[in-house]
Amino acid sequence: MKTVHVETGKPYDIFIERGILDSCGKYIKQVSNAKRATVIADSNVAALYKWRVMNSLSQEGFEVTAHVFPAGEESKNLNTIAEMYNTLANFGMTRKDIVVALGGGVTGDMAGFAAATYLRGIDFVQIPTSLLAQVDSSVGGKTGVDIAQGKNLVGAFHQPKVVLIDPDTLNSLPDLYVRDGMAEVIKYGCIKDADFFENLEKENALDHIEDVIETCVSIKRDVVSRDEREAGERMLLNFGHTLGHSIEKLYDFKGISHGMAVAIGMVLISRASEKQGITQSGTTDRIVALCEKYGLPTNDKATFADMANAAKSDKKTADSAINLVLLNEIGSSFTKKVELNKLEEFITA
Ligand code: MG
Repeated sequence: MKTVHVETGKPYDIFIERGILDSCGKYIKQVSNAKRATVIADSNVAALYKWRVMNSLSQEGFEVTAHVFPAGEESKNLNTIAEMYNTLANFGMTRKDIVVALGGGVTGDMAGFAAATYLRGIDFVQIPTSLLAQVDSSVGGKTGVDIAQGKNLVGAFHQPKVVLIDPDTLNSLPDLYVRDGMAEVIKYGCIKDADFFENLEKENALDHIEDVIETCVSIKRDVVSRDEREAGERMLLNFGHTLGHSIEKLYDFKGISHGMAVAIGMVLISRASEKQGITQSGTTDRIVALCEKYGLPTNDKATFADMANAAKSDKKTADSAINLVLLNEIGSSFTKKVELNKLEEFITA
């Protein structure tokens, strides 16, 4: 068992262990006096794991119900949240009770948001089942839901009581989803840890995925605990994400995954800053090679003008400037404020 302790306003632990799904109730009991637990999962994850989680919770004496919603990004909307509230209220969930978010990023975001707002906030735990959710979205306390005007425009900061990561759940994922998570894994090496990046180059990350997950959540933990509300250092986690979001937007969030777009974004931004002598030369080649090794794309047909325009409508663009995350070299990153109308010039370099 690996443990990562997160010291936020409300500290919590992340436990990483194969098979932990079957003993999740024990760990949830350690952090909660709840009488009732509602497991929230999408239809795919529910079919695979719902009963294992519910059984473990029952064995520990919780009264348990489940709320299952249709799998897919299209479900990420306020109607789905309203249905979650119905289940929570009908089950008689009180202030003391607990929500169990079982699934990938969409589930964690929405179940977390439902927990953050139902009765003005009740406890929740995360059991992330995708690599992306395990290394990224289960740490940091961000919850949210999409509205017609954009993704994650409504949300809340709400820290989980505990995060339980079972690497065995990755075995049931299609290859594409594991690759998707690898983009964020590579990102952590780029922004904070040259040795880790080198390990990803030398070895196959999937052969020692528990260590990989532990390293990633530790890096994110360190960054987030120094900057819980995203004022400064936390922006480094957006490396590759400005252009990545633009690309996702240009595809209307269909046909390209978040990880694929981030991989392309990391490559394009480091190439631009390398050309300007900001990033150590040779860095981009290493990022390209590593993305290719893990089956991620490194280029896209969209023009820099298209990407710059798409970035202008991004919610993270306060004022007329944007904070680009750049590398000095692998393992060392910083932010640079660039005027939005200079973005195209910057990336064209
Ligand atoms: Mg991301």
